[in-house]
Amino acid sequence: MSPSKSVIMVTGGSGLVGKAIDWVVENDSKYGKREGEEWVFLTSKDGNLIDPAQTKAIFEKYRPTHVIHLAAKVGGLFGNMAANLDYFRDNLLINDNVLHNAKEFGVKKVVSCLSTCIFPDKTSYPIDETMVHQGPPHDSNYGYSHSKRMVDVMNRAYNQQYGCNFTSVIPTNVFGPHDNFHLVNSHVIPGLIHKCYLAQQNNTPFIMAGTGRPLRQFIYSRDLARLFIWTLREYQEITPLILSVPEEEEVSIKQVGDSIVKAMGYTGDYRFDTTKADGQYKKTASNKKLMSLNPDFQFTPFDVALSETVEWFKENVDTIRK
Ligand code: NDP
Repeated sequence: MSPSKSVIMVTGGSGLVGKAIDWVVENDSKYGKREGEEWVFLTSKDGNLIDPAQTKAIFEKYRPTHVIHLAAKVGGLFGNMAANLDYFRDNLLINDNVLHNAKEFGVKKVVSCLSTCIFPDKTSYPIDETMVHQGPPHDSNYGYSHSKRMVDVMNRAYNQQYGCNFTSVIPTNVFGPHDNFHLVNSHVIPGLIHKCYLAQQNNTPFIMAGTGRPLRQFIYSRDLARLFIWTLREYQEITPLILSVPEEEEVSIKQVGDSIVKAMGYTGDYRFDTTKADGQYKKTASNKKLMSLNPDFQFTPFDVALSETVEWFKENVDTIRK
């Protein structure tokens, strides 16, 4: 980025990832705020990005030179299955409004956020950046997935037609402070933290669904935030970049449960209900491209990240999303 004044606008600034970027901007000596940078974190209260006029008004107000685009209609499995059209349309409209205004207002760079769940359902592993469009996504969330894939199509076309520097990143499963800790409609880690907390409070067993054997790559929201900022400053390509821990750092769901129990200090009955389905065994993504470009990046050890998240949950349990 140029040393002159830049205004970096983050859409979805109140969410899990947006709050982590805010934290890194304020607290990190390497990736944090630099001289001449002004950071603006938007929430839906600043305007509904589904609406073209409200989106334009936001760009008129802040005149961003750079945009990190996180805002999205995000939901769990059942929400997606029940409303694929809403997830498709809302996200398509949000992304179209943000990228169109970024072009109209001469934004120098946009980094948008995709997700590993948009990859083809039937694929080979590890997944890499070249595979985004190689086959239909999983049937449960095809609306969300196709709308996110279209961001990559738009980035390419904006670059070809107008020379815009719009790119995207693909994070694996994110967790950290400010997550949604709902017991049913949340991702695996925040849901289990909440469940374990209730087991501890009520003196009831902490029961995990399935065998605990499936493997997943989890990225700590604050690591992801550092990588988002690095991407904004250093990544030169239009094509997407997977932001993930290495393949060797996949953890089993049992390791997740063990770490939560330890971080929570839960000493009650803890077991697995093996009559419940496990889901896919693994969905490994490759972070080779990231590590070739940013070889010195240090990921926070999983146990440390999880215990910081549990601490944050306990301190904020009365006010968090749950
Ligand atoms: P959250 O659900 O935590 O936050 C969503 C954010 O988007 C909030 O700031 C919300 O504002 C804003 N938003 C939603 N709809 C609108 C709208 N119509 N107009 C304006 N703002 C809106 O999401 P995450 O932080 O988890 O996700 C951020 C990005 O990362 C998303 O693009 C998501 O697809 C992607 N991602 C997330 C993963 C995860 O594991 N969480 C994994 C991979 C990708 P408000 O709070 O005011 O409602």
